[in-house]
Amino acid sequence: MLLYNTLTRRKEEFIPVTPGLARIYVCGITAYDYCHIGHARSAIVFDVLTRHLRDLGFDVLFIRNFTDIDDKIINRANSENRDWREVSSTYIAAFNEDMEKLGVVRPDLTPKATDYIQEIIELCQKLIAGGYAYAAPNGDVYFRVRAYKPYGKLSGRALDDMRAGARVAPGEDKEDDLDFALWKSSKPGEPSWPSPWGAGRPGWHIECSAMNQPFLPLDIHGGGQDLIFPHHENEIAQSEAVCHCELARYWMHNGFVRIESEKMSKSLGNFKTIRGILEEWLPETLRFFLLGKHYRSPIDFAYDGMEEAEKGQKKIYLALKDAAEATRRNGWKKTPALPAQLEEWSGLKEKFREALDDDLNTAQAIGYIFAAARLVNNLLEDKKLRSSEDAGKIFEEFIASAALWNRELGVFGRDPGVFLADLRRIRAKRKNIDESLVANILNERGQARANKDYALSDKLRDDLANLGVEVRDAASGQEWDIS
Ligand SMILES: [Zn+2]
Repeated sequence: MLLYNTLTRRKEEFIPVTPGLARIYVCGITAYDYCHIGHARSAIVFDVLTRHLRDLGFDVLFIRNFTDIDDKIINRANSENRDWREVSSTYIAAFNEDMEKLGVVRPDLTPKATDYIQEIIELCQKLIAGGYAYAAPNGDVYFRVRAYKPYGKLSGRALDDMRAGARVAPGEDKEDDLDFALWKSSKPGEPSWPSPWGAGRPGWHIECSAMNQPFLPLDIHGGGQDLIFPHHENEIAQSEAVCHCELARYWMHNGFVRIESEKMSKSLGNFKTIRGILEEWLPETLRFFLLGKHYRSPIDFAYDGMEEAEKGQKKIYLALKDAAEATRRNGWKKTPALPAQLEEWSGLKEKFREALDDDLNTAQAIGYIFAAARLVNNLLEDKKLRSSEDAGKIFEEFIASAALWNRELGVFGRDPGVFLADLRRIRAKRKNIDESLVANILNERGQARANKDYALSDKLRDDLANLGVEVRDAASGQEWDIS
């Protein structure tokens, strides 16, 4: 498998330190609020990475942490007059709920920063002993950036460029503007732990170095692109200064999510939480949408894009449903033989996997799912072709492939009939269509048809169309969908 390595800035063959075992660490959330779509993207990208590595036969040890102590958590607790532990545990639970809905497999380990205070203190002590850190008179401990020569190797930044952006916050007591806090002395009333430098709490960057220390060297370290600098740069400095090994061989970073072409931010008021989105869309649609772009590209969350993803998803589920119906039929014919279609079909299966092997190109892999559905639909639409034995073989394998797509991408694992009913329900909700009103009109229309009152039946069909509902008269009765 090829992976793009942020550290070397090129795609490289994935070769783990221990053959057959992939150790992956991804930076998790700071638990102070509901998670937004950017968190969903990162979680889904690394979920698909672990799914694919497992499918390739690797044992995967997947670790994703929680930051459960931080300024943001303390501020929220103070403003809501709650205990900070209650704030972080509330949002960790909410995160787990969101992930479950999105079909994100739970990591093997989910360490929390406050369970590693002792390890953090010991790491600070080692860094101080090595000359890489110092305790300031106010009880803070800082990392001495200039003491660690390779600093900047991940982000490609030179120290002097960083200096321009560095600032000393009020109350900080640094030797150099570039230095960053490993341990912060606590103000009165703040949560704190005893340490050799007085009561305090850990800085953000040191947590990850302490939590992943037992697993070094990691094979893959990941997170959003916004973490490259300073968070991951600082993690490398803290870890590598002490372990004298590489923190991770491969660094993977997923791109940003923008909202309607704008950066998402609370101040712009375009903040999209996962739960807000799932009020209007199925979780599998959000997943399918996010995987529709290569993970390193930015992605634009917009209504039209989601509708398009939803339409595409419906098309594939319909093809699965129709193919399943076709295979229930008897009387397959030997002719016509379909060698070209069989060849196309087996090529598509190969290409799906190859796309994922190539730096997890989910967009391309999904393209092959669409191509497979097109091939199946073309066969289904042709009376002569669809009763051929070869077509039957393609239909069966197409249906079986859904299990592979589900295992790899976490999509198309549901019963098509159940999925399509759920889809209709959420679309009705999103478009404010009253389902019980639709049911009443359909009922009335059914009676009109039974009475052969076609004028009334047509009028009721128009009424439904005005509501945004399409009705089809099938052998089994009236079928409807949101147009
Ligand atoms: Zn981290």
